[in-house]
Amino acid sequence: MTENEKCVFLDRDGVLNEELGYQITDLKDFKPIKGLHNELQRLKKNGFLLIVITNQSGIAKGHYTDEFIFTCHRMLQKSCGHLLDDLYFAPGHESVSKSLLRKPESLMFEKAIAKHGIDIKQSWMIGDKERDIIPAAQLGLKSILISSEKAVSLATHQAAALKDAIDIILT
Ligand SMILES: [Mg+2]
Repeated sequence: MTENEKCVFLDRDGVLNEELGYQITDLKDFKPIKGLHNELQRLKKNGFLLIVITNQSGIAKGHYTDEFIFTCHRMLQKSCGHLLDDLYFAPGHESVSKSLLRKPESLMFEKAIAKHGIDIKQSWMIGDKERDIIPAAQLGLKSILISSEKAVSLATHQAAALKDAIDIILT
């Protein structure tokens, strides 16, 4: 496979759905951000694959199951018109078991890059935590930290919201 696909990797909580300040364990708390379809459409029209990369330690902790993650993902897909190309989630937590999947480790990214033939040089990560940015920096992806305040970060860029992050990518 030639590695010529460009991709925007997206963290889930706080990027695609509203950050509530606690782990989402109930579907009623899962709220895709307003305008998600329009925003992701802008990336899609420019030829980017859109891949969700999310830590979900609530599985290891017994707060919910894989099925809850798939249900949330179907809700996201419905709200964005099925623009998301793939989903990777890390079920582990260091209090239960160590995992190379869980960000800031990079294995979820490496799996996606191999499966989809992704060109790292043309690709981006958008996240709202430094642990989203660390694996991106290690792999050489450009990265955007979504933060309302100026933060010390390895991210190549910062933005206040998803819309602004996409503006940066498309500039
Ligand atoms: Mg997040």
